[in-house]
Amino acid sequence: MKSQPLVGAAVFTAVMRAAGYRCQCAGECGNAHVKGEGRCLHEHDGYTSKHGRRVRLMAAPVDPLASDVAAARLPAGELRAWCPDCHTAAARRARAAVPAVDAPGLFDL
Ligand SMILES: [Zn+2]
Ligand SMILES: [Zn+2]
Repeated sequence: MKSQPLVGAAVFTAVMRAAGYRCQCAGECGNAHVKGEGRCLHEHDGYTSKHGRRVRLMAAPVDPLASDVAAARLPAGELRAWCPDCHTAAARRARAAVPAVDAPGLFDL
């Protein structure tokens, strides 16, 4: 039994099939993934290591800062497989890369 996806099951399956049920991070998280020759080795329902945690990949936008709501509207082709570790780290890096905004109220829409 595969774990519960964030996006619709059909989209999730399409993304995972395209990714070979393996995280598609190619270093966006800050880890060069040398062991995986540039790509994360985490596979869906695999383990981070022999005694590690269970890996639950998710289908999420290439842009790690996109919201879940935005992700739910995207077609499978716009999504990629991420393991939670990579997605969290990539989002942190992406957020840090956004230039600091001095103008107050910009986000008070
Ligand atoms: Zn990963
Ligand atoms: Zn990664």
